[in-house]
Amino acid sequence: MTSIFSSAPIRLDQHGEVLGQRFSSYLAPTLKEAPAEAEIVSHKLMIRAGLIRRLAAGIYNYLPLGLRSLRKVERIIRGEMNRFGAREVLLPAVQPAELWKQSGRWEKYGPELLRFKDRHERDFVYGPTHEEVITDLVKREVRSFRDLPLNLFQIQTKFRDEIRPRFGLMRGREFIMKDAYSFDVDDAAAELSYQAMYEAYQNIFKRCGLKFAAVEAHSGAIGGNYSHEFMVLADSGEDAIAFCPACSRAANLEKATSVYPLTPGPTNAPLIKKHTPNCRHVPELARFLGVEEATIIKSLLFLANGQEPVLALIPGHREINLVKLKDALDGQEPVLASPEQAEKIMGVPMGFVTPVGAKVKILADLGLQRLKSGVAGAGEKDYHYLNAEVNRDFQVHAFMDLATVAPGDPCAKCGAPLTIRRGIEVGHVFKLGTMYSQALGATFMGPDGQESPLVMGCYGVGLGRTLAASVEQNHDADGIIWPMALAPFQVALLPLQTQNPAVAEATASLFDQLTSLGLEVLLDDRDERPGLKFKDADLLGLPLRVTISEKSLAKGEVELKNRADRTVSMSPLNQAAQQLQDLVKAMLSPM
Ligand code: ATP
Ligand code: MG
Repeated sequence: MTSIFSSAPIRLDQHGEVLGQRFSSYLAPTLKEAPAEAEIVSHKLMIRAGLIRRLAAGIYNYLPLGLRSLRKVERIIRGEMNRFGAREVLLPAVQPAELWKQSGRWEKYGPELLRFKDRHERDFVYGPTHEEVITDLVKREVRSFRDLPLNLFQIQTKFRDEIRPRFGLMRGREFIMKDAYSFDVDDAAAELSYQAMYEAYQNIFKRCGLKFAAVEAHSGAIGGNYSHEFMVLADSGEDAIAFCPACSRAANLEKATSVYPLTPGPTNAPLIKKHTPNCRHVPELARFLGVEEATIIKSLLFLANGQEPVLALIPGHREINLVKLKDALDGQEPVLASPEQAEKIMGVPMGFVTPVGAKVKILADLGLQRLKSGVAGAGEKDYHYLNAEVNRDFQVHAFMDLATVAPGDPCAKCGAPLTIRRGIEVGHVFKLGTMYSQALGATFMGPDGQESPLVMGCYGVGLGRTLAASVEQNHDADGIIWPMALAPFQVALLPLQTQNPAVAEATASLFDQLTSLGLEVLLDDRDERPGLKFKDADLLGLPLRVTISEKSLAKGEVELKNRADRTVSMSPLNQAAQQLQDLVKAMLSPM
């Protein structure tokens, strides 16, 4: 049966943007069940609420509701970028390989970079990021210090052939990013550009209604020397963050540092070889010997870039940090040696590898510097050395920070015990220095006529990931709970008896009033049971719901419900629009 609302027009604002929309004629297919591949709640709910649909691994369609929320994130980001003086451009997704060869990333980037050839057999990439393209543009257009500072941004589709695309929009292969690039005359000026973007990002995520933290970060494949990540705090987050509750210092666990508790002092005891049967792992060995795990030296054999062997030594109670180890190897990828490789290079299985007499390069964690009476593999199956001493029994190439911080470790800044929390990286700000401008020859002329390379920064936010992070943080058992700022519509209008003329008339009138006030309304005009409409309304999670029923109308009232706190109140029909407008205003995150 067609609804009596089917002739009601869609309401547009003065720019032609949709304010009021009817559910029945919208592509908003809600689902009872999420597909099996959806592991985390945001992915499940975004599919169930009809926001997105998968096309291929890591590649998604945005349906109308999802697109509306995406546009809201986009508007917030654009507004803050404009406010902080960045200028919008739009760069191509397809980029010639020559630029990547000039920057050196054609070789470095690896299989995440989607490469292809055109009909003339010329190499191209689908841009995973745009440092090369923007630096090339600025190199051609900017000549003088008078043109600086300059910050350019775009909101555009990227492609990264992620090894494990998952969690819906959270880790896609194709995704939309806002990327900005700043160009300055020197480091001091670049610092100001960085600070401005840092502040813009604080504003963006505040306005999105997210609980987040800015954390010190590793710079990763993009390179550069200094960066912060903006992390949305959520248990499902792929990143771990070391937080100091005392001084508020926060760092990605990939690079977090700590000052280790002191390990036992000198004993000058002689090195002893001891039979340690069935002790392949640190806890068993510690129990067997009656020693602290911290005094056991874990010897891990790696192959730098899969080739040169390197022995990494770590205190037994800590894990090796591969990001730190990679930095220690000047960017060479550390690959853990296989049992066969370990046996071939060191002559024993991995658990019994010894630094004593080892012929390979040895890197030791700082935590081992003071250790005088440690336990180490003895280079023989089922044997360990007791009283092993660095610099006496074996030499190390260097002491470096190689271990991952553990909860309770003292903060490197203030000494208070660190806690570990999980987060979703939604934004990243980098200081790039001159690595790209030098590689691509992007210089400017100073007041003295001297040519110098431009000093750069780059700043990224994932739009889809921000949306998914918002759902991850704002939901309950029944569905999404949109913050007002990101909700596809602000108000859900639910007439319960669509065939009842009084209900129909009141609904049409309220729809008119609300959209005239500029409110965004999704009218559930379907001839469906109230129960189903309520369920869908909860699933979609629009912040405010207005229910119009025969019963309430008899008293001249409608029911208002707040999705987040589930409070319900009755409002006189003729005051409902005004009341809703006030609520919407109050619920937009204050700045
Ligand atoms: P990750 O470590 O999660 O792969 P990244 O460090 O590679 O992220 P950047 O290069 O800093 O990410 O990109 C900037 C922003 O782009 C990220 O903060 C994130 O919001 C978004 N982003 C990056 N990769 C993806 C992806 N695969 N899917 C969705 N968004 C992404
Ligand atoms: Mg990445």
